[in-house]
Amino acid sequence: MPWGALTGIRPTKLAYAHIDDFEKFLTEEMLVSPKKTEVVRRIIEAQKGVYSADTANADFFVGIPFCPSRCAYCSFVSSEISKAKNLEEYIDALVREIEESKPLVKNLRSIYIGGGTPVSLPKPLLLRVLGAIGKNPGVEYTVEAGRPDCIDEETLSVLKNFGVTRVCVNPQTFNDGTLELLGRKHTAADVIEKFYLAKEFGFDINTDLIAGLTGENFGMFRYSLDKALSLRPENITVHTLCLKKGAKLKESTSRLSAGEVSEMVDYAFETLTAAGYEPYYLYRQKYMAGNLENTGYTLPGKACVYNVDVMEEIAQNVACGANAVSKAIRENAETKIVRYGAPKDIKTYIEKIDAIIGEKKNLFSQA
Ligand code: SF4
Repeated sequence: MPWGALTGIRPTKLAYAHIDDFEKFLTEEMLVSPKKTEVVRRIIEAQKGVYSADTANADFFVGIPFCPSRCAYCSFVSSEISKAKNLEEYIDALVREIEESKPLVKNLRSIYIGGGTPVSLPKPLLLRVLGAIGKNPGVEYTVEAGRPDCIDEETLSVLKNFGVTRVCVNPQTFNDGTLELLGRKHTAADVIEKFYLAKEFGFDINTDLIAGLTGENFGMFRYSLDKALSLRPENITVHTLCLKKGAKLKESTSRLSAGEVSEMVDYAFETLTAAGYEPYYLYRQKYMAGNLENTGYTLPGKACVYNVDVMEEIAQNVACGANAVSKAIRENAETKIVRYGAPKDIKTYIEKIDAIIGEKKNLFSQA
């Protein structure tokens, strides 16, 4: 197996724990392949200047668990926005949580509004969320604009005015047949159009692709990777298909072999690094095709701070919203990372918002 005996989801975090001889540790003790050890080495190199392990540092996450439609590979807790009954109540509770959570942040490193697809919210509600977070000049501020069917000029302009610096425009694949199969209600041409629109506003752009999608072969993946590269986004993340409980595609029988997916992942590494990108974060999950990994690539100087902090678990994560998991890092304690996960169910989240805020205050007051 490419990752040898490693079962954890954060190989680079483990490498940092053995920083003086991590290459030897990974290859000899953990039996990680030389190819994957080299990826880890390059990530550690690329994180220089961004990596900062300090318990006063914090990232601020806001979760909007709604999307225009549900993707067939999705296992997140996200509902179709057109069917959401208690959207306004959710935003009322979320705005309260955001306001009460802001004082818990010491040294703000980055803000990330994810989900879900935050830009699928009706504009007045999106404005309330952005207003509650407020403007934070000089801080990296990312919004998952994920689906091109939710991106328009007005939304991008609103994001810009609130100080957002980075948006995600996610094709997943540039093959229209696969997009239809995935239930993503948009074409590859829509992604390209909205990508350039976002560029006009000066955002850094994160772009996600998935290797090993049902129905795709190597040639199709190569086409998507080359297409994404031609847009030259600041970041390209290559995910390996991971079908967990709740994903519609899990029922599908046509899966690619580990070798085929591995060929895609290798092609991405070779092509992107030759084009000036560097791998800068990586994580693994259970049920990943070929037991491989997700790797984020960046152009020099454009690494996403939020991704580095979260993957390496080197900063507090003050997270707001249903299913959001806050993480406090405690030095000198037996358990270094202590988590609090808010309820997944929207109705429960709304009903228990006072208790949730109390739990979070408690978590971070001891950090
Ligand atoms: S856009 Fe993301 S969160 Fe929404 S349904 Fe698709 S995969 Fe899930």
